[in-house]
Amino acid sequence: MAQVAVMNVDGSVNKIDRDSKESLDALRQLSALMLKAALQKEFAGIRLGADVAEEDGFYVDSDKDEQQVSADELSQLEAAIKAIAKSEAKVEFKELSVEEALASVKDDPFSTELINENAKDGKVAMYDLDGVLAVANAPVLVYVNLVKNYKLLSVAGAYWKGMSSNPMLQRIYGTVFYKKDDLEADLKARQEAKERDHRVIGNQLDLFFVDPKVGAGLPYWMPKGATIRRTIERYIIDKELADGYEHVYTPVLMNLDAYKTSGHWAHYREDMFPPMDMGDGEMLELRPMNCPSHIQVYKHHIRSYRELPLRIAELGMMHRYEKSGALSGLQRVREMTLNDGHTFVALEQIQDEFAKILKLIMDVYKDFDITDYTFRLSYRDPKNTEKYFANDEMWERSQSMLKAAMDSLGLDYYEAEGEAAFYGPKLDIQTKTALGNEETMSTIQLDFMLPEKFDLHYVGEDGKQHRPVMIHRGVVGTMERFVAYLTEIYKGAFPTWLSPEQVVIIPVSDEKHGAYADELAKKFKAAQIRAKVDHRNEKMGYKIREAQTQKVPYTLVVGEDEMANDSVSVRKYGEKDQNGMTVDAFMDEILHDIATYSRE
Ligand code: ATP
Ligand code: ZN
Repeated sequence: MAQVAVMNVDGSVNKIDRDSKESLDALRQLSALMLKAALQKEFAGIRLGADVAEEDGFYVDSDKDEQQVSADELSQLEAAIKAIAKSEAKVEFKELSVEEALASVKDDPFSTELINENAKDGKVAMYDLDGVLAVANAPVLVYVNLVKNYKLLSVAGAYWKGMSSNPMLQRIYGTVFYKKDDLEADLKARQEAKERDHRVIGNQLDLFFVDPKVGAGLPYWMPKGATIRRTIERYIIDKELADGYEHVYTPVLMNLDAYKTSGHWAHYREDMFPPMDMGDGEMLELRPMNCPSHIQVYKHHIRSYRELPLRIAELGMMHRYEKSGALSGLQRVREMTLNDGHTFVALEQIQDEFAKILKLIMDVYKDFDITDYTFRLSYRDPKNTEKYFANDEMWERSQSMLKAAMDSLGLDYYEAEGEAAFYGPKLDIQTKTALGNEETMSTIQLDFMLPEKFDLHYVGEDGKQHRPVMIHRGVVGTMERFVAYLTEIYKGAFPTWLSPEQVVIIPVSDEKHGAYADELAKKFKAAQIRAKVDHRNEKMGYKIREAQTQKVPYTLVVGEDEMANDSVSVRKYGEKDQNGMTVDAFMDEILHDIATYSRE
């Protein structure tokens, strides 16, 4: 197996397997170093910040007088890296006194700070690449000729040390591999991810926007995005009503005391908006979760064992103060609506209820054609049981019930010891975003704690009071994250039932066939089909292309013949052929599509 020489931050060199992850990291680190050298060669006097090898590439921060490095200059920098790679240069290790090191970076405040930060006992370890010095911060490949298959990808502003009170530097991102094929595959995947990015598509299709000036992380759903969301909301409510849930509406504001009782105020405060002091002693809090609200619904009546499992559901709006750097389109926001539900069960009902919820989730996934997901079952850490809510019997019983339910359904799952919530074990269903990040979409969490804290009871068959167990569950998660996810998996081409515009009708001549088109649209709308007529004074080809760009499932062209025969000429999204059919046949087809959630 091929080996490569890697230099460690203490200057020692060893050989490692070229195909290892460490070796790829060292290749990325060397590429970052070479980019630093290239920046210094091309732009005299440039100030240099961090050089970092990341999970999927590398980056270098820099700061230039007058104009910053622009995307147009990336190819120039690539050529400079190539020249370094062709030279006989290699990375050398130097341990300098801090004075020497500082002298080598002269007026560069960022390098100066990096050196001071990394100095130990008046010395600092540095890599020297052909006279360009950088603090040794991670293992690096020794030989520059291994940097062959690389690409500088983009530039973006980045605050020094990530703090907005610091100056803004220019961050150049790159990617590098040992093999050309790997680089090409990576570039292709990046391109695809960009095409799928829900923020890009959301903008193209005018689904939503977020404007930090009016509120970071507070999304505005435009009519088309709102239509998608409303369709999902109606779907999920109907599905849950059919599955025995009772839907409620509860306030987004609640007395802070409820969150003190629940423990959120003690443990979750960082993610909560600050309370509103009403001035008369009342403190109101924007809810970060709906659980305490549904507990109020439970407590409003005396509950009997006959009512259990009691399933309370809501499309509950909640607010979480996510860090501004973590906000991303609809995927991570500060105001969100969760397809939430809490079922209250007797201990012995856990297994059946859990299986029922899981079936509901998988049923819903099927309708949305979601196929790429994994199960993660989280238990408490058996070596550290004091970290968890104390009730050994409940933990043991419930964990084995969850496992039994998964096994009885024949599902594969990953068991994560020590990943349970403080208050009980859980199952997470994990999906992947276009950018490859894993995220939790659906979750089923057992909770022994809140029923205690809020002192919940039901009257058992024996006439005595018993404590219920609470199951928190989200089927499709928040509307925001779910729509972001769907946008990415469908690449904006929503299946007909979800598509905000299902039919666009284009008259061959607006003057002659416009009225017929309007008549059709009226008929479609009466049948709950979302249709519109494109009356604009544009060429037909242009209108057809635009309907395709907007990813409308059905484009209908109507002219003389169609008018005479009560028919339409149908073009499906992504297809070239046009198909003549009667209006009735077309309606049958599209209504069938909608009713079956078809993605054909
Ligand atoms: P994460 O780890 O992603 O922050 P979480 O573990 O805090 O999520 P839960 O409290 O279990 O999430 O929330 C339930 C669901 O709410 C998640 O599965 C996810 O779909 C969604 N969600 C959580 N935070 C956000 C957010 N900031 N923006 C959009 N959706 C979110
Ligand atoms: Zn909950």
